[in-house]
Amino acid sequence: MSVLPRLLALLGCVLAATLAGAATPRIAYLDLDVTLDPQSRRLSATARLTAPGEFRFTLHDTLTVQAAFIDGQPAAVGAAHLRGTFREWRIAAPQGAALRIEYGGTLPALDRALDHRGVLGALPPMASDAGSFLHSGSGWYPRPAAFFSYRVRLSLPAEQRGLVAGRLIAEELPRDARGRYLATFEFEHPADGIDLMAGPYVVREKLVPRRDAPPLRLRTYFYRNLDALADAYLEDSRRYIELYSEQIGAYPFTGFSIVASPLPTGFGMPTLTYIGAEVLKLPFIRATSLGHEVLHNWWGNGVYADYATGNWSEGLTTFMADYFYKERDSAAAAREIRLGWLRDFAAVPAGSHQPLSAFRSRVHGAEAAVGYGKAAMVFFMLRDAIGEDAFQRGIRLFWAQHRFKVASWDDLRAAFEQAAGRPLQPFFEQWLQRTGGPVLDIAQAEGHIANGKTTLALTLTQTAPPYALRVPVEIITANRSETRWIDLDRERQVATLELDALPEGVRLDPDLRLWRVLAREQLPPILRQWIIARAPRLAIVSPGADLGLAAQTLAQHFFEKPAHTIGPGIPSGDGEPTLIVGLEPDVDATLARLGLPPRPAQLAGRGSAQVWTVQNGEDRAPIAVISARDAASLTALLRPLPHYGAQSYLVFDDSRAIERGVWPAPGRLIAVTRVKPL
Ligand SMILES: [Zn+2]
Repeated sequence: MSVLPRLLALLGCVLAATLAGAATPRIAYLDLDVTLDPQSRRLSATARLTAPGEFRFTLHDTLTVQAAFIDGQPAAVGAAHLRGTFREWRIAAPQGAALRIEYGGTLPALDRALDHRGVLGALPPMASDAGSFLHSGSGWYPRPAAFFSYRVRLSLPAEQRGLVAGRLIAEELPRDARGRYLATFEFEHPADGIDLMAGPYVVREKLVPRRDAPPLRLRTYFYRNLDALADAYLEDSRRYIELYSEQIGAYPFTGFSIVASPLPTGFGMPTLTYIGAEVLKLPFIRATSLGHEVLHNWWGNGVYADYATGNWSEGLTTFMADYFYKERDSAAAAREIRLGWLRDFAAVPAGSHQPLSAFRSRVHGAEAAVGYGKAAMVFFMLRDAIGEDAFQRGIRLFWAQHRFKVASWDDLRAAFEQAAGRPLQPFFEQWLQRTGGPVLDIAQAEGHIANGKTTLALTLTQTAPPYALRVPVEIITANRSETRWIDLDRERQVATLELDALPEGVRLDPDLRLWRVLAREQLPPILRQWIIARAPRLAIVSPGADLGLAAQTLAQHFFEKPAHTIGPGIPSGDGEPTLIVGLEPDVDATLARLGLPPRPAQLAGRGSAQVWTVQNGEDRAPIAVISARDAASLTALLRPLPHYGAQSYLVFDDSRAIERGVWPAPGRLIAVTRVKPL
C-alpha cells in the first residue's frame, strides 16, 4: 500500500458536531421539502416544525422567507439586519403551534478554487451543475434546535441525484428528461445539522442481507468517470462495516454512501462520506481513509463527543482504523506509525503544547499531533495496560452504554474500568490533563553475579514531575533479546531484575510503546524535514545543462520553499537542510570528499534513481541525496517524490518506488557494566 502523507492531509475529518454539554440531546423535528435546480442555482423549500414559542432562526443572505403560517394561518415574519452572510428571522408563535415556512433564493456558485484548507472553513451553501454542497452550518434550512431529527424530501432535475444523511424511505426516478428525481430521507436520531449533496451522479447500489435487521443499503454517488471504482468501494464499505459491527456492536444505521465531491473534501457524516472525486482515485483511500470514515459512524456520529471536555473520537477512530490496519500488516508497520506520531509531537514548537483534554478539532498540525496522534497512542498504551480482552470488552461496553448519546473521556474511562475491574483514574488523568510528555533514560545498568545468581540493577530516570509508567526495557544477550516491564513513578528509581545470564546491553522502549519525548537518535531523518525546510539548499554536483535543469525543476516540486543553489563545495555548519543531486559517480565522489557516509549498501546499484537521508550527526547540516542514472531519471521523480516525506530512503525505477523505508533507530544501547562483589 502506498502512503502519500501530503494527500492524507486533505482528509481532515470534519464532524459538523458541536454538541456542547448536555448529556441527553433534546429532540426537535424538522420536515423539509427542497427543490433544487443546480443550473440556475435556485433553491425553494418548505419547512415544517413545532414552534418552541417565538422561533428565531438564521438563513444565508441569499435566501429569503417568502411566507410563514402558524396553524395554517398567514403569520408575520420579522427580519433582522445582516450579520456577516447570515440574517436572523423571527416568527412570534405560541409554543407547540404548527409552523410552516416557505423560503428560497439563488445560491452562490460552487467555488471550484477552494483548496483542502478552504473547505475546512465556513462554507456558504453552493450549487452548480457539476455538484452542489449545502453544508449543515451554511444556513440553508431553519434549524429548529441544537439537536433534532428530520425528514427531507428532495426534488432535482432529471440528470441529477442527491442525498442527505439518513435512511432512504422513498425514491422516484424521472420518467423522461423533463421529469424530476425525487428522494425522501429520514434521520430518526439526534442530528446537529443537515448536509445536502447533489451532482450529475451515477448511483450504484449493493444490498447486504443482515440478521435481525433490514438489508444494508450501500451506495456510491460517483461521477461517470469513477464508475469503474464503484464495485470496489461498495465491497470495501461492506467489509469495514462487518469488521466494526463485530468489534464494537451492530452498525447503527440502515445504509452507507460514498459520495464524490467536486471539492477536495474529506468529510464524514452519519451514513455517508463526502470525498473529493480526485482523491477517490487514489488507492490508499479505500485502504485507510474509507475505513476511518466508516468507523466514525460509531465514534463521533454514533456516540457523540462531549466537546466541552475534549474530543476523544478522532483518537479512538485513528487507533481502530488507521493504526489497526498497519498493525494487521506487520509489527514493523505498526511501529512506523507510532514513530510518526512521536515525531510529529517532537516537532510541535515549545509553547504550543496543549493537553489532550483541550482538543476539539483539527485546525493546525500541533492540534493534530495531540488530538489524533497522542489520543491514538493513549488507547494503544491503555491496551498494553489492561490487555487485549479487557480493551475489547471496554469498547463494546462503551458503545452499548452511550449509543446516540453525548459521552466524555470520563465515560470512556468508566467503561474500561468496568471491563478491566480496576481503577484507571491516574492513567487517564496524566495523559489527558498534562501537556507534553516525559523524557526517559537509563542512567546506569549494572550486572552482579553472586552466589550463582545473576542480577541486573537498572537506574531509570524521567523528567519532573514524574509520570506513573510501565517502561519496557529490552535485555540483549549474545543470542537473544527479551523485554521486561518496569514500573517507574519517581524521577529516579533502581529496579533489580533476576536473569539467567549477564546481558551485553539494554535498551529503553525500543519498540516505542510509550508516549514520550524521543531522543534524537530515535528520530531518523526523513524527507519531510527537507520538504518543509524554511531555507533549503540545493547542490548540483554533476555538469550538464540537461541535468542542471532537471535538478532545478525537481527541487521546485520537492521543496515547499524556493531552494538556494549552492556550489558543490557544500559549506557545513549553518544547519539548513541541503539536497545533493547528481549522477552516481559524482555523488559518490562528493560524499567521499565531504567525509560523509557512503551510499548505503542496500541501495547501491538498484533502480534508475536512489534517494536517501544521510545520518551525519548533530553538528552538521542535514543532508539528503538524490542520485540518478541520467537527467530523465530525475525528471521521472517530479510527481512521486514529494509524496514520500515519511521515508528515509527510496529506490525508484523511473517513477515507481520499488523500495522505501525509514532508517532503523532502536535507541541507544546501554552497555551493562559488571560489578565485582567486594
Ligand atoms: Zn476522523
